[in-house]
Amino acid sequence: MQIIQSIEEMKQASKTFSRKQKQIGFVPTMGYFHDGHLELIRQAHKQNDITVVSVFVNPLQFGPDEDFESYPRDEQRDIKLASENGADIIFIPEATDMYPKKTIVSMDMLERTDVLCGRSRPGHFSGVVTVLTKLFHIVQPQKVYFGMKDAQQAAVVEALIEDLNFPISFVGVPTVREASGLAKSSRNVRLTEQEKSEAPSLYKALQMGKKMALDGQTNPVIIKKEVRRFIAEHTTGDIDYTELLSYPELRPITPADRTWILAVAVQFSKARLIDNLIFDID
Ligand code: AMP
Repeated sequence: MQIIQSIEEMKQASKTFSRKQKQIGFVPTMGYFHDGHLELIRQAHKQNDITVVSVFVNPLQFGPDEDFESYPRDEQRDIKLASENGADIIFIPEATDMYPKKTIVSMDMLERTDVLCGRSRPGHFSGVVTVLTKLFHIVQPQKVYFGMKDAQQAAVVEALIEDLNFPISFVGVPTVREASGLAKSSRNVRLTEQEKSEAPSLYKALQMGKKMALDGQTNPVIIKKEVRRFIAEHTTGDIDYTELLSYPELRPITPADRTWILAVAVQFSKARLIDNLIFDID
């Protein structure tokens, strides 16, 4: 596996692959790998000639009071794990190279971002689509891999690719979970032992809400209330939101919507966890 830090070098490598008609699969990440990231890398490896993984903690997508500085990092471990799971290139650019000067262009999402995490993280998805646009131009992939754990991000990326005509196929990878049901996340390391034992209740609450919907409950208010009640009863975390929306539009559900997302965010003492289930109604 090759380690590339320079944007120019990454561009040249991609150009060479494209000349040789090699298909590039790309997995953008912020590092500190767990099995969720590794599943994305393994899938990219299976479905492409070349797998590029980027590790970049993007300052643009963190708010002033968020955890940019303290975001967990372990580059050497990431390099080893990426290589063992089929990456051909790990691209680790410096923030000063990605953003050498004050950015002049700002990208804005008009839909899909004023709900869920976007509501409490103004500017977050602008930062996400900006960095992804840059990375897509640098890496020139044919396929990109994103985890459905970050379902709102997936909906935003699908819109980015479609609206801006990127010649890229989007691949959404199902959420990888611990045996307990807890969705794997780089932020799980910040849970206390007590919180770690409570956190699987998020998934249980979602499963209960999904069952209510599949059993015929069509009133989102009732489903959300039950999900909240379950989380409040089983955890010490503060519920940021429980939402039931259409997917991928992320709008209030109408009778015509057949694919729903039930999503939660819960703030624990040092970690904010998110989880969701996406399912078809019929
Ligand atoms: P991050 O490093 O947190 O930006 O995540 C990089 C990619 O890994 C994103 O596409 C995430 O959605 C994905 N990812 C994170 N956690 C999981 C998980 N538990 N299962 C599947 N994909 C995940």
